[in-house]
Amino acid sequence: MSVHLNDLERHHDHAVVRCRSKEWNMTQIAWIGLGRMGLPMASHLKAAGHDVLGIENYAAAAERARAAGFAVSETLEAANGAEVIFSMLPTAADVRSVYLGADGLFASLRPGTIVVDSSTIDVATARLLAEDAAAHQLRFLDAPVSGGVKGAEAATLTFMVGGDKDTLEAVMPILEPMSGRVISAGGAGTGQAAKIVNNMIMGVSTAATCEGILLAQRIGLDPSVFFEIATTSTCDSWVIRTLFPAPGIVATAPSSDGYAAGFMTKLMVKDLALAVEAAKQTATPATVTETALAAYADAMNNGFGELDCTSLYLSMSEIADEMARTADSQASA
Ligand code: NAD
Repeated sequence: MSVHLNDLERHHDHAVVRCRSKEWNMTQIAWIGLGRMGLPMASHLKAAGHDVLGIENYAAAAERARAAGFAVSETLEAANGAEVIFSMLPTAADVRSVYLGADGLFASLRPGTIVVDSSTIDVATARLLAEDAAAHQLRFLDAPVSGGVKGAEAATLTFMVGGDKDTLEAVMPILEPMSGRVISAGGAGTGQAAKIVNNMIMGVSTAATCEGILLAQRIGLDPSVFFEIATTSTCDSWVIRTLFPAPGIVATAPSSDGYAAGFMTKLMVKDLALAVEAAKQTATPATVTETALAAYADAMNNGFGELDCTSLYLSMSEIADEMARTADSQASA
């Protein structure tokens, strides 16, 4: 099921939607993880009139959220009492520690509470969370997003949602202020499956773009001329137009802002590792993804982990300089 939010009335009985929207006015929401994605997403919910309590355990991020007008707690217990809980956390381990086990939130939330995890994590963990939530009479959706920090800020994210359709319909009016599109991918875990494959293709495409732009420059092309050619040729892509890795060509690209993340290299390493693992589990070849993963992992280990993933271009430039030095010294020996 694909639902354009502006088309809600075509998919649902008008009165029911209005009634639901009213029901969700001023919803008590707890938002766990107010980082690069979480803060702008939660801000749209606040602007839509919901009562949003932030939960963030990194002091600098908590401070930024307070400066943006949020009440912020550092402890998970503060989420008890919320009607809807969102999480936007770095890794599956973070998500498991927040929800599962004796100290996890699932053990203490009121039955019927809706929990929406928008972090990018593995499918098995998402399914485990859905099962454990059901055992505690909670309603759980895996709802990862695509569109990056800019999409989060502009409220144009695509949500790919796995889980019960009634729960998705119930929570749809709350997703609306953050999203351009909400797509039901199927049962529990399928939102994460879609997200992993999306990032696999996007990550490989970004790696190929970094390698290609660097090669273009080293062969003697001006990157701004190549941008003009690429965007009207067969290699044109969202990555080239949005994330062009050489600085100063696309003004809004992370490369033109000192490679400030965006989408950190270390998160790309996490996501491509998820794709490689999923490929192993399903006996699917992933050699291209494995090569891209190795390149990002090198970049991460060489100090680019916290920068935007397009800093792979810088890491590749360093390797190229080193290769040139070695070739020179061999030639003069
Ligand atoms: P981030 O590191 O900027 O934000 C995550 C926040 O969660 C951090 O501020 C961290 O302190 C907080 N946190 C971690 N454990 C916590 C806990 N137990 N309690 C409270 N807060 C906790 O990362 P991000 O870029 O916002 O990404 C978040 C998720 O979204 C990741 O899974 C990522 O893969 C995914 N994602 C990111 C992008 C992007 O462009 N940045 C795009 C789509 C999806």
